[in-house]
Amino acid sequence: MYYHADIFEAVTAFLLGAVVGSFLNVVIIRLPEGRSIVHPPSTCPDCSHTINYYDNIPILSFFILRGRCRECGGRISLRYPVIEFISGFLCMALYLKFGPTMAFVVLLLFCSAMEAIFWIDLDHMIIPDVISLNGIAVGILAALAGLIPDLNWKLSLGGVVFGGAILYVPALLYEKIRGLEGLGGGDIKLLAMIGAFTGPYGVVFVLFFSSLTGSIAALAGMLIRGTGSTTPIPFGPFLSSAAIFYIFVGKEIIHRVYGMSNFF
Ligand SMILES: [Zn+2]
Repeated sequence: MYYHADIFEAVTAFLLGAVVGSFLNVVIIRLPEGRSIVHPPSTCPDCSHTINYYDNIPILSFFILRGRCRECGGRISLRYPVIEFISGFLCMALYLKFGPTMAFVVLLLFCSAMEAIFWIDLDHMIIPDVISLNGIAVGILAALAGLIPDLNWKLSLGGVVFGGAILYVPALLYEKIRGLEGLGGGDIKLLAMIGAFTGPYGVVFVLFFSSLTGSIAALAGMLIRGTGSTTPIPFGPFLSSAAIFYIFVGKEIIHRVYGMSNFF
């Protein structure tokens, strides 16, 4: 299903996404530090000066200020506008796929949570429970209310159980055999949340696709840093990006692979 949006709608969706991305930047920085995500307003990390509203425009401000704080000239990370741009693009793509529906709203929330987890896990090797556990509840409730296309509450609940169990068992075995934690509990709760929004088929797809991209990244890491490298790679970024990928093309790919027109 695709929605025929005009250019005005598409641009509006992009701008909405860029604003969401600006908020995600705050979440990504503050949530792992246990700070409030609504108060105080953003400050420069170098000089602690409160950033003026006119210097806080998503994407644009970075370029107007040439990547530097207006007060102290300290460098602003390029990551801020990049995350705002990606969020804008994702929001526009979701709108073009789902149109002005509740599915668009729910899946924008889901994709935004996946984006936040992507960066937080990359930075800190943690996946905040406040996102994954609340996400499980929101996913089940949204499916119960019929807001997620092709997903009833049974599939949602099945996705949670399946997503939680399929990583829990190997994680337990790995821990028993190797005596160390390979897959974190955060990954298990994240896949359960992904299951709440995508069902068991989504879990299979995400697990397959993230294992593939994760293995490629691990191999690339070995080639670059040498085989002796034991630097742990967080799995969350692979799970979360695979989940976003599933929202857009997952069903189409599953249909093509299995050639089943009534798979769902
Ligand atoms: Zn400054």
